Amino acid sequence: VTDVGEALTNSAARFWEAVAERRFLLERCSSCETWIWYPRGFCPECGSSDTFWYESSGRGEIYTLTVVRRSWGPWESLVPYVLAYVRLDEGPCILSNVIECDVDSVRVGQQVELCFVPSAIEPETTVFAFRPAIQP
Ligand SMILES: [Zn+2]
Repeated sequence: VTDVGEALTNSAARFWEAVAERRFLLERCSSCETWIWYPRGFCPECGSSDTFWYESSGRGEIYTLTVVRRSWGPWESLVPYVLAYVRLDEGPCILSNVIECDVDSVRVGQQVELCFVPSAIEPETTVFAFRPAIQP
């Protein structure tokens, strides 16, 4: 791939198409097996553009989090909400929201799982978030 911008655009489009189908795809390097997050169409470790898609288990744990209690614009009415880095079982660390939880009891290390919800800002758009995992 010579056009990095085009690779990025194509990868992002593929990713969001899958989210609309309620699937969460991770990109992975075929050459060195690095997990690639965010999707970008090439490997940030070895530079290979030979990547493939892998459907995530959607399971992970909270790596770090913050409770947003003041916000602005379209997010103002959504407070308080949890913004967290979630480390997926596959390895990548993803910035997202943790929903369907008591914001004051969410903690680092907590097991969470992916879910798909209408965007709070654009309800016709499906987005992903995490929620506390249902214990097996
Ligand atoms: Zn690589």
